[in-house]
Amino acid sequence: MRRKLVAGNWKMHGSLAENEALLSGLLAGMGGVKAGVAVCVPFPYLAQAQARLTGSAVAWGAQNMSQQARGAFTGEVSASMLADFACAYVIVGHSERRALYGESDELVAEKYAAAQAAGMTPILCLGETLSEREGCITEAVVARQLDAVIAKCGVASLARAVVAYEPVWAIGTGVTASPNQAQVVHAFIRARVRALDAGVAAGLIIQYGGSVKANNAAELFGQPDIDGGLIGGASLNVEEFLAICRAG
Ligand code: PEP
Repeated sequence: MRRKLVAGNWKMHGSLAENEALLSGLLAGMGGVKAGVAVCVPFPYLAQAQARLTGSAVAWGAQNMSQQARGAFTGEVSASMLADFACAYVIVGHSERRALYGESDELVAEKYAAAQAAGMTPILCLGETLSEREGCITEAVVARQLDAVIAKCGVASLARAVVAYEPVWAIGTGVTASPNQAQVVHAFIRARVRALDAGVAAGLIIQYGGSVKANNAAELFGQPDIDGGLIGGASLNVEEFLAICRAG
């Protein structure tokens, strides 16, 4: 039985004061939450997250990292730097990184490999754009993104990873994939992994992301292949995020 995982992606939001209010509210409201919970915070706030969350039921992580180990890469942050702050998770291949910063499938696979080598669990984001969905190539796109990681790291690596299916057209738009639309793609992802390794597929956490809110989380998370969510905007509101966590 897979335990659901609800992870907040704060994106480029927050301040020391705002984070303190969010984290203390989250910690105060965790009673009765069965799902695993994590927050992926901006780099400058990793120390704050570590200080506030160490010893609690809430894990923390980052939203991106370099594929490089160290060197002359101005502005970049390495996996070992994230590990220094005891990050459990790091998001790789978020659609905003792919679209706005030109991250290719191969680069995402390198980041995924570097995250695992440093002992962290990558949250690998996959998902199609609206035009790709309308062109009926959703499965081809998701398969290509997934296969790049399997080609580099092997299917067994997915036992130490989380996959997040995030249709790009649903991220930050208020338009959520219907539970059935999401389930179809989640089942496709799991079947593709199952074809290579049934055990890995059975244990793989596949989150849904894209305008998850308190009022749609339970139905989404109730689908057989949806194992929680990657939550953007709603993770910045403590009551909303806690309600989503309780749906897990
Ligand atoms: C995300 O950023 O991963 C995301 C799913 O955002 P939102 O929940 O705001 O759609």
